Amino acid sequence: MKGAGVTITVLAENMAQGMGLLGEHGLSLWIETPETCVLFDTGQGLALPHNAEALGLDMECVDAIVLSHGHYDHTGGLHYALSEIPHVRLFLHPSALASRFGRREGISREIGMPAHVRGAVEERRTSITWTRGPTEVASGMFVTGPIPRRSGFEDTGGPFFLDADGTVPDPIEDDQAMWIETPGGVVVLLGCAHSGVVNTLDHIQQQTGRKPIRAIVGGMHLGSASDERVSRTIESLSQLGIDGIWPCHCTGATATAQLMAALGDRCHPCSVGKRIEF
Ligand SMILES: [Zn+2]
Ligand SMILES: [Zn+2]
Repeated sequence: MKGAGVTITVLAENMAQGMGLLGEHGLSLWIETPETCVLFDTGQGLALPHNAEALGLDMECVDAIVLSHGHYDHTGGLHYALSEIPHVRLFLHPSALASRFGRREGISREIGMPAHVRGAVEERRTSITWTRGPTEVASGMFVTGPIPRRSGFEDTGGPFFLDADGTVPDPIEDDQAMWIETPGGVVVLLGCAHSGVVNTLDHIQQQTGRKPIRAIVGGMHLGSASDERVSRTIESLSQLGIDGIWPCHCTGATATAQLMAALGDRCHPCSVGKRIEF
């Protein structure tokens, strides 16, 4: 059911609270306005169909899917989504299709878009928008395209490479966020924020003529961030006077606890099934 404003429902996330809901390492946010439904990311694919049914979300309502970047935990559910809603409009950066690897203790793991999902994207001839810059997805709803890395203290957040040998660092240039303009200010949705939270908010402020940011929902990828990076991120969020922050997915338990301690009741827990109304 479409309400009067913007509703964000957490459809896939690392944690689930509530009867019959599944958690998985991944992210998918369901955006609903009086005019449209948009899916921001699709999780790994295990949780999406299950949670959509459990939450009473009808995939037929979705007009557009935006991919924050090409990692498997954001794109794995796309194959299912495209099979349910073949004519949906799809927004992604071309580099989201790249092969890519995570590397720990000398061992590489393929973490890009699963091959069958990449095949489904490559087979499409229509309804794809390659987001090389800021792009309007629906009325008042935008995707950033690539985000300039200006802050100097933020990195992609992990040992990411474009080759299995770990010699070519992956800048994750396809990383993008969404923003939604509401009467009370801008609502920002983050995938993993591999460009950095501060860089992302700075870019969105530039695009909107520095409209106030009202809320942030999504992954901040601060699991292996230095104390300095976390405290400078918190300082930035405080200075921006953001009313509501829902960190989830890859933000990391320690950073989430630090955000909650510093921002008090402006910082909220987030898990599958959470509905946030603006
Ligand atoms: Zn990622
Ligand atoms: Zn992720």
